[in-house]
Amino acid sequence: MKTLPLDAKDALLVVDMQNDFMEGGSLGISGSKSIIAVINRYIEIFSRNSLAIFASRDFHPVDHSSFRHMGGPWPVHCVAGEFGAEFPVELLLPEDTIIISKAEQPDKDAYSAFDDTCLNNQLEQRGIRRLFIGGLATDYCVLHTVKDALVLGYEAVLLEDAVCAVNQQAGDGDKAKVKMTSLGAVEITLKHIAQ
Ligand code: ZN
Repeated sequence: MKTLPLDAKDALLVVDMQNDFMEGGSLGISGSKSIIAVINRYIEIFSRNSLAIFASRDFHPVDHSSFRHMGGPWPVHCVAGEFGAEFPVELLLPEDTIIISKAEQPDKDAYSAFDDTCLNNQLEQRGIRRLFIGGLATDYCVLHTVKDALVLGYEAVLLEDAVCAVNQQAGDGDKAKVKMTSLGAVEITLKHIAQ
């Protein structure tokens, strides 16, 4: 693949890089910390090119319906205002990062960063047409965010070296990647991007 030149219609979207999803967190994903350094490289490139950077975050109330004690599938995670919902200090998000909070209502979960958020509006306001997407997790929030981006007419670029999967079932992450590319996402790594 040739190097992708970046332009003003491009934005970086870092999905759910939060303490609770890091190894040791309440919903720790194996390998999640290892992608921080790569995401920081993408952040640096987008910053240097004065391109918009978005970061989504799971931001739940204490009694969120996705939690096991409320009948949901997941342990308590990413409670708004708590350490687990914060971005790891090692993740070097610039001050002007646009934060997109999701699943803030008790009765509704949201895997996609577009689900009931202002993300689409924010992108439209800035004239962004192509989204470079990395973060967590390949087989849940990244998958659903990429799907929605494509449905909404954005070009979606999956940052293959900057994602990590839960793999509840072995191979879930790989299946999600196949799904995303079959829907039209382009898979790249750092070396494919103009530095
Ligand atoms: Zn959640």
